[in-house]
Parts: sequence; structure tokens; C-alpha cells
Amino acid sequence: MKKLSGIGVSSGIATAKIYKLIEEPIIISEEKISEEKIEENIELLKSSIISSEQQINKIKEIAIKNIGKEKAEVFDAHISILKDPEIIDSTINKIKEERYNAAHALKEIATNFISIFEAMDDEYMKERSADIKDVTNRIIKNILKINIKDLSLINEEVIIISHDLTPSETSQLNPKFVKGFLTEIGGRTSHSAIMARTLEIPAIVGIGKEIFSFEEDEKVLIDGAQGEILYKPTQEDIDISKLKAKKIVEQKLELEKYINKKSISKDGFETEVAANIGSPKDIEGVQKFGAEGIGLFRSEFLYMDSQEWPTEEEQFNSYKKVLEALEGKRVVIRTLDIGGDKHLSYYEFPKELNPFLGYRAIRLQLKEKDIFRTQARALLRASAFGKLAINVPMIATIEEFKEVKAFFDNTKKELINEGIKVGKYELGIMVEVPSVVEIADIFAKHADFFSIGTNDLIQYTFAADRMSEHVSYLYQPFNPAILRKIKKVIDASHEVKKWTAICGEAASEPMLTPIFIGMGLDEFSMSATAVPSIRRLISLIDKSKAEELVNKVLFLETQNEVKEAIQKFFKDNNIEVF
Ligand code: PEP
Ligand code: MG
Repeated sequence: MKKLSGIGVSSGIATAKIYKLIEEPIIISEEKISEEKIEENIELLKSSIISSEQQINKIKEIAIKNIGKEKAEVFDAHISILKDPEIIDSTINKIKEERYNAAHALKEIATNFISIFEAMDDEYMKERSADIKDVTNRIIKNILKINIKDLSLINEEVIIISHDLTPSETSQLNPKFVKGFLTEIGGRTSHSAIMARTLEIPAIVGIGKEIFSFEEDEKVLIDGAQGEILYKPTQEDIDISKLKAKKIVEQKLELEKYINKKSISKDGFETEVAANIGSPKDIEGVQKFGAEGIGLFRSEFLYMDSQEWPTEEEQFNSYKKVLEALEGKRVVIRTLDIGGDKHLSYYEFPKELNPFLGYRAIRLQLKEKDIFRTQARALLRASAFGKLAINVPMIATIEEFKEVKAFFDNTKKELINEGIKVGKYELGIMVEVPSVVEIADIFAKHADFFSIGTNDLIQYTFAADRMSEHVSYLYQPFNPAILRKIKKVIDASHEVKKWTAICGEAASEPMLTPIFIGMGLDEFSMSATAVPSIRRLISLIDKSKAEELVNKVLFLETQNEVKEAIQKFFKDNNIEVF
């Protein structure tokens, strides 16, 4: 038996024999071709592109069955890379002018494109380099007549080991036979990780070269939640893991009962558990896990996924789509929160020493009124198609919020004068700057609601950059300094019959559920997958007892003391957390 570990990116426990996906090496000759061979090589390139297109279309068909139509859209992107005139024309030029053979020419051009994408700051664009590599490698293999391993033909239970899994490989996996995968490289946001979660199979990535010391056909046991791998497990290991797996299945079944239910505490306090999304594509998950609405639609992803400022029409269509899909449930859309660590390829931000303390979110939009107007118009037009709440990020002063409010009022008048219908909407603020907490009672008079962004509120309260691993110990959601702030905000809103949500990561921290219930939080908002588990906990908690817990923890000194008190609460009340 041998143990290895890596980054667990998709949970679940599985035991199966190893299937090593080892690529036949691609050996490309750098020998130049003679003039007579130029046409032949161009033809070879073109016919290999056609074969690659046929193969990708076939994979796409299988992928639609395995992972659904929307996720399989990645292959449309692959087809467009395949047909990209910049890549094809530059390759043909290299063959013609520099007499490179077809494979060598394409490799050179592809390497160039890949390094441009890899050097981009934007994580999403960086990941696109994997797509270019995937497609161009396929064409090169076709040029060289290398056999391409077809994962969709696997017909017995296996766990795959490979250097990495490309998007096209991952989507060929049939979860009936492929019980999990282990890769040498990769991280949490890599394509393969996202696909593994969609397929609901355990996966561990970033394990390192040692993974290749495991031999084909030997047994391996993997725990995707813990990132643990046991090579040649003993029967005892397998028996224990079966018990664990059984428990996970039971817990999953138990959680399913909480999909599409109301969120009510044991003693009848009603709250809501909503979902955070970044694009209309995420609606699928919201519906699957039965969220009671959308508590945060981060509109900046529409801007980040675009090559230029999204138009009013594009934004309107996205917002309308989400509002209609939610059929009258509330959708909170946040105005553009760009800056800090989020950039746009088509906008030059001023150079600042501390971008998280600088020109970000509403600070930028109040200066760039045209950009703000386009978004405001799209939002107000969409308000006629569902229950809309608009949420403004990074508000720090009352003057800012008054200016925003007046801006929306004027934009509304403008639209009505044009004969365009505007529905009802609420206008609230993200509470993430500590100044707002201090005068939450005053803000509560002006804003329709509060949504606490704990991610930023914690970074600004502790003066600790949320991106820096050196000060990550100061991310302290359990610290009384934060809990007191949250209580103050909730109380201020209730004082004037308004509502408060939490949409930062703390909302899905199960250990904090009794605290927020005790404070009377009106809405929790989180990634859709966490909804059933938090809703289940809510149903097991007595609000009256949770209130006593809150009164106690607010006067403790450290976050560890708070955590201990909460653990004791769960134990005393016989509540198992999962
Ligand atoms: C937050 O700050 O908690 C939040 C929800 O916003 P973001 O993480 O997008 O800054
Ligand atoms: Mg924030």
C-alpha cells in the first residue's frame, strides 16, 4: 500500500483499477521541405483539420449525453479554434515562406498563441490556452497519423491516471465506467475539475509526477473530498471506504429532501436560502438545488467574458433571461464590481498601489457615467420581467448612495419618456466597507435592503488583503469583530422593516448557520450546491436557542473561542453537520 495526496476538486469515494492515459509521444521533425512538397503539406494540414473537425463533432455528441448540452458548448469553441483564420493562415504562410513541414509549422504557430494566452492576467483567458493546445495537438496528431486514444470506448470500471485531462478528454468520460481521475497537474478552476464536479465523479489533481509510479490494472482507492489516494489498498481499507461512501450517499439522499423546500427553523422562523450566480448559464444549478431566489448575480462576469463593453441590449437579454427563469422569485443583480483583482481587457485601469482600496466598483461607475447608464437602462428595462432587486457594491458614504439613487430615478424617467416600461424594483447596497456598518441605521433609511459581502467586509475590517496568502490567517469570519458588525446591520434594517442578506462565503459556512439564524438573517446566498445542506441545518436549529448562542459569542474574545462555543451548541442539540 502506498499513499499519495493532491488537490481534491470533486468529492466522492471510489475504488477501481488503474487506466493510465499515456500519450504516444509527438515527435515532430524540424526538417524543411522542398518546394515541390509545399502544396502537399498544405493539403495535409487542411485534410487533418477536416478529420479533427469530424472527431470533435463525434466527441461533442457523446459529451452532450454525458454532461449536457450547455457544458458541451466548449466544443463549439474548439471548432472555432480549428477554423481560426489567424492560426490557419499563419501556418500556411510558414509552410509556404519558410518551408516548414505542416506539423512543425502548426506547432510553432500554436506555441506562440498559447504563450500569449498563458501570459494573460485573467484566469479565464489563461485557461483558454488549454483549449488551443488541445485542438492544435489533435490536428498535429492527425497530420502525423498518431493514434488518438478514445476514452469514450472504456467499458469497465476504472480510475484514470494522466498528466492532465483536456476538456475533450474529460467530456468523453462515461461516469458509469470511469469512477474517478487523478492528474499530475491542475488546480481548482481547471476545466477538468469543473467537469468532474458536473459528472459527479471524484477527482484529485496536482498530485505530481509520483502518480505515474502506480501501475496499470492495479487497484487504487480515492477520496475526492480529502484529496487522498491509496495505491493497492488492503481489504480493510476498502471496507472502511465503503462505509464512508455509504454514509456520503446517505447524506446526499438526506440533503435531496431539502431541495425546493422552504427554509424554516425548527421553531418556525422563516428565512430564505438563495444562490449566487455569475451568468445566465448558472440558472441550471439554481434550479437543480432548489434555491429560493438569486441573492447575488455578479454582473461583472458579463463584462469579463466579453471583448468590449457589453451593450445595453446584451445586458438586458441576460438580466431578462434570469428574471424570467426565476418565475417571480427575487433576483438580486449587483451593478458592475470591477477593479481590485477583476480586470477588463478593453479598459485601462489607473495604476494604483492598493487597487482593493482604489478605483473599484461604484467608485468607477460614478465617474464613468456612460458605462453606468448602459447598465442602469438594461436593469430597469429588465425589471418589467420579474422581481428585481439592484445591489450596489463598495458603497462607503451616504452621498454616494444618494447619487446612485438619483441616477436610477433619472434613468427611469428617461426610459418612461421613451415609452419603455419599467417595473418595480428595490435598490439596496452591499455592506462591505466598515464605514457603512457604523452608520447602518442612517443607511437603512435610504436603502431598500442590505446584502453583507463578508469577503470584503472581513478584508477591510482586518486590513488584510484577501488575495495575500501571507495574511490569510486574518480571514476570520468567526471573530466577534465581524459577528458584532453583522448583528448591527441586521438590527438596523429590522428597525425600519427592511431586510438583510449575507452573500459572501460566510453564508455557506455551516458552523455559522446557528449564529445567523439567531440574529434573524432574512436571506442566505451562496453557491447553489451548498443550498440543501444549509437549509437542512436551518431546519434543525431552534431560533430561540440560537439567540442565546449569539448573546454569548458576541462577548467572547477570539474566533477560536467562538468556534468552540458553536461546536458545543451542535453537540448539545444533537445536530450532525454535513
Ligand atoms: C463579498 O465581498 O463578500 C462579495 C460577495 O463580493 P465579491 O466576493 O464578489 O467581492
Ligand atoms: Mg465584495
